[in-house]
Amino acid sequence: MRWTQTLIPTLKEVPADAEIISHQLLLRAGLVRKLAGGLYTFLPLGLRSLKKVEQIIREEMNRAGAIEVSMPCLQPPEIWQASGRYETMRDALCRVKDRAQKEWVLGPTHEEVITTLAAGEMNSYKQFPKNFYQIGIKFRDEIRPRFGLMRAKEFIMKDAYSFDTTDAGAMESYRKMYDAYTRIFARCGLQAFPVEADTGVIGGNHSHEFMVPAATGENDVVYCEKCGYAANIEKAISGVPRTAAREVGPEIEKFATPGVVTIEALGKAPYSVPANRQIKTLVYLADSQPVLILLRGDDQLNETKFMARTGAIAVRPADAKNEADQALFTALGAKPGSLGAIRNVPTGWKVYADERLRGANDMTTGANEDGFHFRSVSIERDIRVTEWHDLRTVTAGEPCAKCGGSLKIRRAIEVGHVFKLGTKYSEPLNATFLDETGKRLPSVMGCYGIGVTRTLQAVIEQGNDKDGVVWPVTVAPYQVCITPLTVAAGSAPMVLAEKLYAELTEAGIEVLLDDRDERPGVKFKDSELVGFPIRIGIGEKSLAKGEVEIKARAGAVQGVSVDAAAANVIEWVRSELARLNAPAKPVI
Ligand code: ATP
Ligand code: MG
Repeated sequence: MRWTQTLIPTLKEVPADAEIISHQLLLRAGLVRKLAGGLYTFLPLGLRSLKKVEQIIREEMNRAGAIEVSMPCLQPPEIWQASGRYETMRDALCRVKDRAQKEWVLGPTHEEVITTLAAGEMNSYKQFPKNFYQIGIKFRDEIRPRFGLMRAKEFIMKDAYSFDTTDAGAMESYRKMYDAYTRIFARCGLQAFPVEADTGVIGGNHSHEFMVPAATGENDVVYCEKCGYAANIEKAISGVPRTAAREVGPEIEKFATPGVVTIEALGKAPYSVPANRQIKTLVYLADSQPVLILLRGDDQLNETKFMARTGAIAVRPADAKNEADQALFTALGAKPGSLGAIRNVPTGWKVYADERLRGANDMTTGANEDGFHFRSVSIERDIRVTEWHDLRTVTAGEPCAKCGGSLKIRRAIEVGHVFKLGTKYSEPLNATFLDETGKRLPSVMGCYGIGVTRTLQAVIEQGNDKDGVVWPVTVAPYQVCITPLTVAAGSAPMVLAEKLYAELTEAGIEVLLDDRDERPGVKFKDSELVGFPIRIGIGEKSLAKGEVEIKARAGAVQGVSVDAAAANVIEWVRSELARLNAPAKPVI
């Protein structure tokens, strides 16, 4: 391909609305253009890299025994109602109406569609196991599309769905996908690692996310370097001890705390109640029902854990400044800062307490009377706790629950997610089969997603320097850029450029010939910005020495004799490809 023939609109300036480096480089290197918030057009170079990621995924899915299908984006809402997700995923669903005013769902994921297919076609145990996958467009009505392709309204996902007759079979399918994902990300040149994950509205009971470490990621991962434990903070546990038991007075004692409305203020003189001896009381609305959540004063609630433990789908803190929520505080008798769960808890309000408070005594908590607290509180004696759960957010430095090592936390980008689903979809959507004995059973499912467009951007987020993108050769839009410094037809640099182009192309190397009549500086800067793994610079000066200038994107310029140039580049590209594609170890 010739530069002048394609469209590579590189930008010198950093686009104002691109906050993270990979988003800036997607735009600056001329890979994508924004149509509207969360909607992007792939330009020729961006599309080439995207297709490469897709192809790596396809090869590894096929290798793991999965079979490719293609399902419609437009889906009937009835199947979403049957699975229950018409409600639970309501906010994320993009919906459209046809001319007859019938509503359709634009698929955010395809469990309902594939399970409907299996219900119709997979009726005998002899047809199992199967793993269907597709690579296609998904729609999600994200509240805040941002960071380019990272969180888009329309994006490309690889989604796969396994069907087994037994739980053990489903675990085996899960393991194959887990292994395939490890290979896929390695081949994309990414350092991705699996972490234990929450299952969210997708459901199921076993799940891992594949994470790419990056300061700009939207996930916090808790990990232990000693034993290898790693989990999304939404799921992570630690070995922090429960609150130490102490002597406690025979009954609670009310005391005045005028103007004290924070944990910190109560920690200061004259009260001097340390945060770990305070009970923090949060008022939440869980699926519109008011509830109280109790945590130790030095702990923070993790809302995802709360949702996972209680099954609540929509949760939010009650807001004392919001008029609609005023009645909740009136019912309790106090404003935030003086809230507690000892008195005045309206009947019907559930009280959830964090496990770390179990058995805690000699605690202090709000009295549900502005300006007053109770001390000498023994939680199990004085508070009617409806349910105990692990609800707190793990913090760095806590002991690992598995080995006692010190936990660390880092930001990461979620590029893939594998779930063991069990029968969550096969039961409501009737995906059943007859076993050897003629008994009808629901199939045991798993589902496996990779954000293809997000993965592409993660490659850039991980591979860049001050000059631009640094692609792994497996995902680069072209492997080699030939840059003649004069492009006049018949000039020595151009003649050699054409010759090398032909030789490399013949050898299966992907080459872009920069035939623009531009200053060398402009051409070099652009090739660094786009990030071709190898550049071959051809100028009159080096030609006079019988050389071309070869530069690996992350290396220095090297003079190489004209005769050795093609072989040198072919060898480099092939060995890099072999190195990155190496981890592919067959599973079946
Ligand atoms: P997130 O937590 O980032 O919103 P998710 O957990 O809802 O993602 P899944 O349902 O697990 O996403 O989807 C599978 C994969 O699709 C994710 O691992 C991610 O890589 C990708 N993905 C999800 N939402 C988006 C989006 N809005 N834009 C781009 N990729 C996405
Ligand atoms: Mg996910």
